[in-house]
Amino acid sequence: MNEIIKMTATELAEKIKTKQLKSAEVVQAFIKRAKETDSKIKAYMEITEEYAMAQAKASDEKIASGKETGALEGVPIAIKDNILIKNLRMTASSKILENYIAPYDATVIEKLKNSGAVFVGKTNLDEFAMGSSTENSAFFTTKNPWDTERIPGGSSGGSASAVGAMTAPLALGTDTGGSIRQPASCCGIVGVKPTYGRVSRFGAVAFASSLDQIGPMSKTVEDSALLLNVIAGYDKKDSTSINKEVPDYVKNINKDLKGLKIGLPKEYFIDGLDTDVKKSIDETIKIYKSLGCDIVEISLPHTDYAIAVYYIICCSEASANLARYDGVRYGFRAECDNLSDEYKKSRGQGFGPEVKRRIMLGTYALSAGYYDAYYGKAQKVRTLIKQDFEKAYEKVDIIMTPSAPTPAFKIGEKSSDPLQMYLSDIFTISCNLAGVAGMSVPCGFSKEGIPLGMQLLSKYFDEEKMFNVAYKYQQATDFHKQFPRI
Ligand code: GLN
Repeated sequence: MNEIIKMTATELAEKIKTKQLKSAEVVQAFIKRAKETDSKIKAYMEITEEYAMAQAKASDEKIASGKETGALEGVPIAIKDNILIKNLRMTASSKILENYIAPYDATVIEKLKNSGAVFVGKTNLDEFAMGSSTENSAFFTTKNPWDTERIPGGSSGGSASAVGAMTAPLALGTDTGGSIRQPASCCGIVGVKPTYGRVSRFGAVAFASSLDQIGPMSKTVEDSALLLNVIAGYDKKDSTSINKEVPDYVKNINKDLKGLKIGLPKEYFIDGLDTDVKKSIDETIKIYKSLGCDIVEISLPHTDYAIAVYYIICCSEASANLARYDGVRYGFRAECDNLSDEYKKSRGQGFGPEVKRRIMLGTYALSAGYYDAYYGKAQKVRTLIKQDFEKAYEKVDIIMTPSAPTPAFKIGEKSSDPLQMYLSDIFTISCNLAGVAGMSVPCGFSKEGIPLGMQLLSKYFDEEKMFNVAYKYQQATDFHKQFPRI
């Protein structure tokens, strides 16, 4: 295995900047690895070799001529295929956008370009980011690099699998109810959902706008912190982004944790929790105790309602957001004699079954006579869930839970039962409903050798502390240094 692909983004950035490595040679190494392994994994919708090599060459020239460089100068990154890169195809893994070419850059892409990052590919997802396994992609299912019979998680399964298989040191995902953290946990990597409003969503395909966030994925905590440094910040093009200073997330990552209070919500440690998951969390608690942290039991009493509330809210917002795909303005069009048939057939043929299910559920929840009973009620319970977190943070600095209730399951195991699939996100959804920040960090392996993840949840805009807590754990463990044999 080429030594380059084992390096962290932080190391690569340093080596490229100091001319020990050329960006072109780094990018080539990752693309070679992707070409060798991706027929088995299928993480990528497209490997953008030509685009990446041109960017790498530009970075190398910039460095050679002594010009100022960016924080990720010459470093490869894979991008979830629901984020726009100008002039590249962007499908959201849906037939309805199969041939859509992005007319502009998302804000995060603009920021990455300014930082010198190199885009090596667009990664597969569940159609419109609806799912937990990538089985809802209209094109193909991505495999878990640790066991190709298993799902990589979802919906950012392509990004998680790409980083897990070491075909990119960094990736971007989006997280509406767990789509960064759950696949990160399944693929043995770090995945971060920043506080709602921390990262601009301009140029990311809208699924449920009050929940969606873009976030970093990488093998190490430090790399995700470095990536968040680049993509975070206010953007006037996203009215929900917050005008608040962005700290340097790497600077204080190594602070001592003595006296830090970690809360364990009792509602998350239910009977029937997978024994390997439970064991890995018990071991994690021991490590944090040895680092001087206090472990405190807390309660998030409205946890039981989170899945129901989430599915009413996300489906309602999706039904509104996806109304724009009508076969007229852009995307796939079914040719018909009259406009009304054209709408129906374009949407009927363009959307897959899960997307249709959610549009119908959402339309129902928003319809006259049902609005108060469903959407209105869900919003009220959402406020209670948010208040649960606010109360908990009066007692603790950070909350810890498992990231997912089970290790990555087998492909096909849950695809015929949407409810079972929805339960995969039982631990990640409340974070989006409350708007707080969350991340998954590798914390062990199941008996079968499948990665497991713990979730850390911080107060609003306290990602700095979250990274610190996660970083100290990685310093004390080596789960993130294991590689799949693919
Ligand atoms: N799995 C969840 C869903 O299907 C979350 C998806 C996401 O975060 N994009 O809605």
